[in-house]
Amino acid sequence: MSQLEHTSAQYRSLRLSAIGRDLVGLVSQAEANDLSHLSFAQMLAEHEIAERTRSRISRHHRQAGLPLDKHLEDFDYRHQTTITKRQVNALLDFGFIDNRENVVFIGPPGVGKTHLAIGIGQKAIQAGYKVLFRTALDLVEDLELAEMKGQLKKRISQLAKFDMLIIDELGYLPMTAQARFNLFQLVNALYEYRSIILTTNKDFTDWGEFFHHDNVAIPIIDRVIHHSNIFMLGGESYRLKQKTSS
Ligand code: ADP
Ligand code: MG
Repeated sequence: MSQLEHTSAQYRSLRLSAIGRDLVGLVSQAEANDLSHLSFAQMLAEHEIAERTRSRISRHHRQAGLPLDKHLEDFDYRHQTTITKRQVNALLDFGFIDNRENVVFIGPPGVGKTHLAIGIGQKAIQAGYKVLFRTALDLVEDLELAEMKGQLKKRISQLAKFDMLIIDELGYLPMTAQARFNLFQLVNALYEYRSIILTTNKDFTDWGEFFHHDNVAIPIIDRVIHHSNIFMLGGESYRLKQKTSS
């Protein structure tokens, strides 16, 4: 075994896998640049750290379950004029996640709510946060399944490991009383602890009706909108615009 192979194996056994894998290249780069011993030592550490960051972010991407690849860069603010680029960009320092605040996008279909939610989610992942995307329907099913197995609490605490939950399309389809109760349990667990991005077609004034005025309606609304950035989106459906202009 060459000295290089031996040393690579040692790095791997120390779980410095990026250094172990890339040692040849790192050594030749150091030689080519005539690096000092200290600079080389630093280069190895930085390489391992950068690789770990990259693999953590790509793991977070996989875990997030974003349904589509939507980017904020592709969002057209000339079409959607009820929110400004400045307002969206202001969210991207992720103070809202650090402060456990929520973001709510309210508006009719096709105005870009899901696009914005996914785009912000992508940026949050890039910035190192753990994000989970679920449609309200999937989330409710998920909770229902857990509840039937007597594992609602456990499931909620798993969900609360994410820094931010994106709950898409609340209000489109009716929910059972049990589903509303489960959702309340979740929202309650996340309140002032984690962030939610919620998209909905229902104005808050319609939420009482959506939740059948049962005793979870007010507490859910209360917890979601307390400490939250609310954006009322309007305008024409982007889908419609694409149809008519093509
Ligand atoms: P909503 O969730 O409000 O129903 P979506 O975010 O799903 O709407 O938008 C519908 C489609 O139109 C998506 O493909 C989305 O990428 C696109 N879209 C909506 N608004 C814009 C916009 N302002 N700029 C670029 N694409 C948009
Ligand atoms: Mg949507």
